[in-house]
Amino acid sequence: MAPSAAGGARPEPTPGLYDAVLLDRDGTLVEDVPYNGDPEKVRPVPGAREALDRLRAAGLRLAVVTNQSGLARGYFTEAQMRAVHARIEELLGPFDHWAICPHDDTDGCSCRKPAPGLVHEAARALGTAPRRCVLVGDIGRDMTAALAAGATGVLVPTPVTRPEEVAAAPTAARDLPAAVDEILRRMRAVRPVAPRAGRAGTVLVVRSDSAGDVLVTGPGIRAVAAGARRVVLLCGPRGRAAADLLPGVDEIIEWPLPWIDAPAPPVDPTDVHALIDRLTAVAADEAVIFTSFHQSPLPLALLLRMAGVPRISAISDDYPGSLLDVRHRVPNGVPEPERALSLAAAAGFALAAGDEPGLRLRADLGRSGDSRPPAATAVPEGGYVVVHPGSSVPARACPAHRCAEIVAALAADGHRVLVTGGPDERELTARVAAAGGIDLGGTTDLAGLARIVAGARCLVVGNTGPAHLAAAVGTPVVSLFAPTVPFGQWGPYRVPVARLGDAGAACRDTRAAVCPVAGHPCLTGVDPPAVVAAVRLLVPG
Ligand SMILES: [Zn+2]
Repeated sequence: MAPSAAGGARPEPTPGLYDAVLLDRDGTLVEDVPYNGDPEKVRPVPGAREALDRLRAAGLRLAVVTNQSGLARGYFTEAQMRAVHARIEELLGPFDHWAICPHDDTDGCSCRKPAPGLVHEAARALGTAPRRCVLVGDIGRDMTAALAAGATGVLVPTPVTRPEEVAAAPTAARDLPAAVDEILRRMRAVRPVAPRAGRAGTVLVVRSDSAGDVLVTGPGIRAVAAGARRVVLLCGPRGRAAADLLPGVDEIIEWPLPWIDAPAPPVDPTDVHALIDRLTAVAADEAVIFTSFHQSPLPLALLLRMAGVPRISAISDDYPGSLLDVRHRVPNGVPEPERALSLAAAAGFALAAGDEPGLRLRADLGRSGDSRPPAATAVPEGGYVVVHPGSSVPARACPAHRCAEIVAALAADGHRVLVTGGPDERELTARVAAAGGIDLGGTTDLAGLARIVAGARCLVVGNTGPAHLAAAVGTPVVSLFAPTVPFGQWGPYRVPVARLGDAGAACRDTRAAVCPVAGHPCLTGVDPPAVVAAVRLLVPG
């Protein structure tokens, strides 16, 4: 809803995805000439000027974020570096800020990439936040710095970029112009082409599947809520607890859709007729069906038609015939929250002014509706790190013995470690916590877990629901990410993240529920000291 214009106050514009693009210098903007102090040797990469001008024309601010250890090593002077930068601006146009680390690896500074210091500095100088920035760079250090600050990373590999750096990148583009295409495409995708004249009436939104799926759909549902009088959410039993945490939802219908689950139960005609009756009773003016890329919205669209819903929007590669009014298509690899936002936009809905396009929970979370004893869900005092060893899907879980070693390593580094898990994971959390943590397995519901994660300095977790819970409450995540699905699509969204695990393992992109590779090497190989280092990267001091 647009705020009142009384008093001459102008409504804030709907925030786009990004305010700024940060660019690595050597290998990204200009050809990498090691320790270059000579302006004559500046050679822009092909298409750089035109690509940067397109970003400028889109209203994005630009900064350079660059490690220049040649200063510390005495290979060139600051005056020579300034001459090089003047030449770069002469060739590529002006930058709004230059963030430069003059240190060497041995200085232990907080600005040398992969540390996120330069990203924080550039965002501050440009008057924005890291989560509203994209960093384009050519090596893994750039991506690590971007993610650790909560920014988006786009890798533009060069011949010196290592294959494992390409595998681990959230997004990779062929070259700088292609990276710019991708940034601008993603920004356009979440903006409605044809904004609505007035508010919609009752809109039925649908997201089946588990808690994480429901949480990442939150921004899309908020966009619908911003333009509708009433929002009814249809979710499955596994997503119900997460649905209860989402802002913008007026009513929840919990109903398992038999064709969604794997293994899928048989379709029961009596149940389907009962669902149609329930959906008819909603009297929705329209419906927006959110799905994962491997799900079809069409079976449910047919039931919604039978329930009399006049306008239905969904993402569908399959020909929908008369089942959809708005058939939206999305390229592979888009972050799930943006996928949902882009469907909402295609249906004509945008986030309210001032509503950031990240994950969010209800503001009244924990103040009502929690019947558990306070002692069980109270947030412990003082700083602590949470390790959540379980996963909704076995292929994405770090083995228990490795999680125990991680707990021991974090405790040895001076952290108080809480180990969390659901009621059915008590055996697992007890085993993992025995290595030096406090076992909270089975003591909280999802809202209680959200409060514990919100109070944590950092969450160590696989690709499962609590990772998205952390994103929703702004807690940094050490993501033990099995590459069975794309990290750029399913990684914690717009929150500081350190990615660990073998991104190039043979299970990559298999979507396997059970790891198809003997020994589960993608996560068994996670090194506990690397987890300690990742926590230090995300939570300095
Ligand atoms: Zn530095």
